[in-house]
Amino acid sequence: MRKPKQSQKEIWRSFWSSGIFAVGGFIFYLLFEKGYTAVYTDVSEMGIAYLVVSFFLIMFLHETYYYWLHRWIHKPGIYEKVHLTHHDSIITSVWTSFSFHPIESFLQVVFIPVIIIFVPAHIVVVMALLFIMTVSATINHLDIEIYPRNFHKNFIGKWLIGATHHSLHHTEFITNYGLYFTFWDKWMNTESKNFEPVFEKLTAKVDE
Ligand SMILES: [Zn+2]
Ligand SMILES: [Zn+2]
Repeated sequence: MRKPKQSQKEIWRSFWSSGIFAVGGFIFYLLFEKGYTAVYTDVSEMGIAYLVVSFFLIMFLHETYYYWLHRWIHKPGIYEKVHLTHHDSIITSVWTSFSFHPIESFLQVVFIPVIIIFVPAHIVVVMALLFIMTVSATINHLDIEIYPRNFHKNFIGKWLIGATHHSLHHTEFITNYGLYFTFWDKWMNTESKNFEPVFEKLTAKVDE
């Protein structure tokens, strides 16, 4: 059961986060315009192979940054100041996706302007990453599992975070810290032991 007025609070917090994300976007634009970034617009400059590699490289770097940032903001003393706002939502909804304290919004958005200074990325790769970031944040906070039965066991699905995985982070607090992928949680043994049974229960066919 969601707390009373939870959605209103989340929408208000998301409003401020959106403002901070927009400032991040503006800074990205200024850096790009002035030629301070490694962003390029001609695919032939680096080739198709690099385009694909750079996409996965930045996803991996983002996952690594977020996982360890997330572990850090769960530390007592930091948690209350920075991350408690997001965890105010124990049962999540789409509105929780961007419901952050302004400091957390800043720590999240800062990754993009910094990474594109150092890692050459085609503009389409940058746009694709921003799109995936937004869509995956929404899927992960749905609190409704959209992946099919046994998805968590298949070659791709076992590495992807979805609604059940991230909902467990909001109810258990000390498990499932990942952003897009499960590998850091698996490597650091922070993946919830309840994930598989809960996922299987939620995706089981009703008539079986
Ligand atoms: Zn957290
Ligand atoms: Zn969350």
